[in-house]
Amino acid sequence: AAKKDGRGRARTFTRSMLIVLEQREMLRRSLRTALQEGQFFIEYQPFVKPRASIVGFEALLRWRHPLVGIIPPSVFIPMAEADGLMSEIGQWMLEQACRAAVTWPSHFTVAVNLSSAEFLHEGLTDRVAQILDLTGIRADRVELEITESVLLERTINNLDTLNTLNLLGVQISLDDFGTYYSSLSYLKNFPFDTIKIDQYFIKDLEHDEKSQTIVRSIIALSHGLGMDVTAEGVETEGQAAWLQKEGCDRLQGYFLGFPIPAEAIGEFLRKSAAVPMAGALRT
Ligand code: C2E
Ligand code: MG
Ligand code: MG
Ligand code: MG
Repeated sequence: AAKKDGRGRARTFTRSMLIVLEQREMLRRSLRTALQEGQFFIEYQPFVKPRASIVGFEALLRWRHPLVGIIPPSVFIPMAEADGLMSEIGQWMLEQACRAAVTWPSHFTVAVNLSSAEFLHEGLTDRVAQILDLTGIRADRVELEITESVLLERTINNLDTLNTLNLLGVQISLDDFGTYYSSLSYLKNFPFDTIKIDQYFIKDLEHDEKSQTIVRSIIALSHGLGMDVTAEGVETEGQAAWLQKEGCDRLQGYFLGFPIPAEAIGEFLRKSAAVPMAGALRT
């Protein structure tokens, strides 16, 4: 009976697997033309500084597929990486985000995520320099976010790349800190401006002492090394208040603002000026 059950289960599993695979194959094929067809768009999620309101936005890529609808980056970015398309998409992304940011108040920054294929691409630093030139954005208004997983590959040239980006004047953030290896040697060796604490440590913050201890330590560590700290995934007022009390430099999350399309930013800024963002956080 066990064998039959097993086989039956295996057959069902295979069929749904097949559907998933066919869907993935369909997506992969349409990913090749998505850029030319103008199917990508960007949403911007605010960064908020306690007491000083909005200080910038993170650019988050979305794909509007004509049949499937909006596909999140967690689904299509790994495909684009595997098919060697991410470098070109990333270039488009950075240029669009910089073009948008020059229209914002001049102290606002724009953060753009770099996947490993983009970071490891030989032409990255030239390309960043070109886009700064082309869009006329001040270099220090641009933040590039990388995760530790990016640094795990090809360690020797990584420092060169980061140093060159640093010389160009852009800022570099370590994204999702705490979820990968969290090797402290990265913090010693690489010139990050900001560490972003992964939302995993933020979600239980109000009730879980371990999360509190970890977050407090990351804040102290970052400040001790002269880096700023951003908390990701702040969803409640309690989390925001706790983070402010502990000296976290910037907050990001649904409590402070959802990702919104570029066209909605003007309205968002007008509203938050009238009803200050995170008004409850001002002391
Ligand atoms: P990330 O850079 O860590 O971005 C934060 C993710 O958390 C975003 O998901 C954002 O929408 C979501 N988020 C923000 N606030 C909250 C909150 O309060 N609660 C919860 N539960 N989630 C929140 P999204 O947009 O789906 O992006 C997922 C990941 O995809 C990003 O993680 C980033 O690694 C990657 N990604 C997005 N856009 C790009 C891009 O243009 N290039 C590259 N290479 N990667 C990108
Ligand atoms: Mg990010
Ligand atoms: Mg992150
Ligand atoms: Mg994250």
